[in-house]
Amino acid sequence: MKVLTRLLRSQHFITRANKPLQLLHQRAHNNLSYSNKLVDATSRHLQKVFDDQKYFNDFTKTATKADTLSKPGLNGVRNYSIFNNNSTGLFKNELLSTPSGLIEFSKKSRLEAIEFVDSMLHEVNQNEQGRLTFIRKLDQLSDLLCRVIDVAEFIRASHPSTKWINAAQQTHEIIFEYMNQLNTNVELYHHLRDILDDPVMTAKLTSEEIQVGEYLKQDFERSGIHMDPETRNNFVAITQEISLLGSLFNNELRNLKSFWCEVSRSEFDSIEDETLKQEINGYQQKFSGVHSSSSVQIPLVGHIPYSILSNCANESLRRKIWILLHSSTDEQIETLNGFIKYRAFLARMLGHKSFAHYQLEHKMAKNPENVITFLTNLQNSSRDRGVLDEIKQLYNYKKNPQSTDPIEEIKPWDRDYLVAQLQQDIKLQQQKKEPNPKELEPIHNYFSVGTVVAGLSSLFSHIYNVTFIPEPTLRGETWDQEQVRKIKVYDHTNQRNLGFLYLDFWSPKVLPSHFTIVCLRKLNSSIGTESKEQLQDLVQLDEDKTSQLPIIALVCNFPKASNLSIGRFAGMGGSKEKPTLLTLDQVDIIFHEMGHAMHSMIGKTELHNLSGTRCTTDFVELPSVLMESFSRDRRVLCRIGRHHETGAPLSEELLQQHHHHRVALEECDSYMQSKMAMLDQVLHDENVVAKLESTNFKGELDSTAIYHDLERQLQVFADEWSTWHGKFPHLFSYGAAYYSYLFDRAIADKIWHGLFAEDPWSRKAGEKYKNSILKWGGTRDPWVCLADALNNPELSKGDSHAMEIIGRKL
Ligand SMILES: [Zn+2]
Repeated sequence: MKVLTRLLRSQHFITRANKPLQLLHQRAHNNLSYSNKLVDATSRHLQKVFDDQKYFNDFTKTATKADTLSKPGLNGVRNYSIFNNNSTGLFKNELLSTPSGLIEFSKKSRLEAIEFVDSMLHEVNQNEQGRLTFIRKLDQLSDLLCRVIDVAEFIRASHPSTKWINAAQQTHEIIFEYMNQLNTNVELYHHLRDILDDPVMTAKLTSEEIQVGEYLKQDFERSGIHMDPETRNNFVAITQEISLLGSLFNNELRNLKSFWCEVSRSEFDSIEDETLKQEINGYQQKFSGVHSSSSVQIPLVGHIPYSILSNCANESLRRKIWILLHSSTDEQIETLNGFIKYRAFLARMLGHKSFAHYQLEHKMAKNPENVITFLTNLQNSSRDRGVLDEIKQLYNYKKNPQSTDPIEEIKPWDRDYLVAQLQQDIKLQQQKKEPNPKELEPIHNYFSVGTVVAGLSSLFSHIYNVTFIPEPTLRGETWDQEQVRKIKVYDHTNQRNLGFLYLDFWSPKVLPSHFTIVCLRKLNSSIGTESKEQLQDLVQLDEDKTSQLPIIALVCNFPKASNLSIGRFAGMGGSKEKPTLLTLDQVDIIFHEMGHAMHSMIGKTELHNLSGTRCTTDFVELPSVLMESFSRDRRVLCRIGRHHETGAPLSEELLQQHHHHRVALEECDSYMQSKMAMLDQVLHDENVVAKLESTNFKGELDSTAIYHDLERQLQVFADEWSTWHGKFPHLFSYGAAYYSYLFDRAIADKIWHGLFAEDPWSRKAGEKYKNSILKWGGTRDPWVCLADALNNPELSKGDSHAMEIIGRKL
């Protein structure tokens, strides 16, 4: 129910952590439950719905037309179609047909919530039935408000229309304050606590109800509910202040300390690329108007700084550009210091040693000490495994090194330049070996968006017996009817709809993200607090109208292919629209986000609070990170990759050549991630609290000094000059939980090796994974899930030994 917790869960980050291909033998697959021909046709249809705009438009038209003809006004059921004037609202929520409808929806929901709380409190005092149904009702109440907050959050981030975004902003204000009041409603909390403390009551509740009850109780307590009213009010004020500073921080992430970087005339002259120089001069004349004979102003805009970092031999020039490009404004660092201070204060107020202790109390890791141990082990092993080797490779290209220690010598501004040098050298050597090489065919030819979606459907049909079925959308159902595709996720084993995905791969404004719009939840019709009639216009129900189905929106910012004549169509007198073709990195992204989506779809929970991805933050990335192991597996890529024009499958040879060409600093990258996770820990740790406490929270916090100290200590591209930490968004959004990605990566490696490495298309492995992990959402201790999935009872304790097992490199 707690807004902060919930919003945290909807944010995602993508990091690259490439894994070498495993060359394992391929197995035969004979567990298809329906004929291959049918699968091929379904798969082609799915692919074309994404790749062929005309096909998609026709699909939408015929389907809605057929729908209108077959059910003419049956029992007052409205017909929606692009041919009549009726329309529905966003995600088929009838109230969401206009921006003002969204505001109406939020006001209506708030009112409903207020009345519902009154009736809950009345009934809980009346009889045992009121107490037995209390947790289910609390969950219903929280769903009622989340339905509004979640859709508003999605609109705020992704909707193309400013009117909608403004309405979403208002909605947030209408609901947020009320949510905070609810989080500190003493009466609700006392009843919940009494019910959970009463063995007679708990004996009659389901284990899921008890889990959700405990979770909500923790949330209440984390809001300081058991404190005196004055402290509680302080608590609300401080959380609001933190949240305000957080959005300020997020809004200013991209601002630079300065738009211009001043360099000497000779540094400027050292740029060899004449076109780049002209471009810089053009900017100078247009904007700065400052002409000086001794210095030049370089604009930090577009590709200019990055071209300099990759291509200019002059180190002092690169140094200046790099530092300024990674420096935040002073205001931004002040904002960061502000919320770190408030967080430390809040943690002490609630009786925790530090904000990290407060944050991690109910996570898998349990405490910051475990996190530090995990990160330190990881750092030591990646240092041993290859960080030094990778750096040494770069060191060979550094001119006039000052130090004999490669790690000390290679500075952050050297990285791009030396990688480019290394790449060039590899190319030269290859040319020597093979003077007239055949040009490597671009691999993206095999991965159109539609091919990847159809490939995922095929993978899921093998491992889960679940497929994707495209559904036409109605007018108003999406934010862009030409662009957004809707998919029904269908379970063939139980012959049931699992939920719906709305996919927009071409959003101009959002980094790849996954949004939960509605969660799976069983309706409370049996206890009489809601009915299917009330809900069917707001959410999408299952076949027997007993549950609301999960709705997930997945948005990516892939560039749309232009309408140019291409390939064999060129010169044939016509042109054909080219489908969007994806790089291997973009394929990873879709797989990652689909991992989150399937977590929501495959969950089998009844209450919304712990459904699907609503599990603990340091477990939530597991299903998505695991999907990246699939998208990097040769056997998976070669089976799903199909040439967009010829339909030819991707050859292993081509795939291997492309992997060969990727110059990766894999171990360095993973080391850098662990440095970022460590920074997130130290900024929220006990030392910060102790320092602030010594001045009664009146002294200043110097996050820049903390950042530079840590960099000096951990080394590897160590930064002692910039204020990059003001550009690291997850310091706010994850707050002491950024280790989660690396932690889940470590768990995913274990699951991959334990279940899928032998055969990524295995139904047996898929069933085991589904039943031990995915179906539980957040209703079972993740450590117990892992012990089950990996057949290792030692893990179920989730103690420091379990942490150590997970941290062990394979
Ligand atoms: Zn993610």
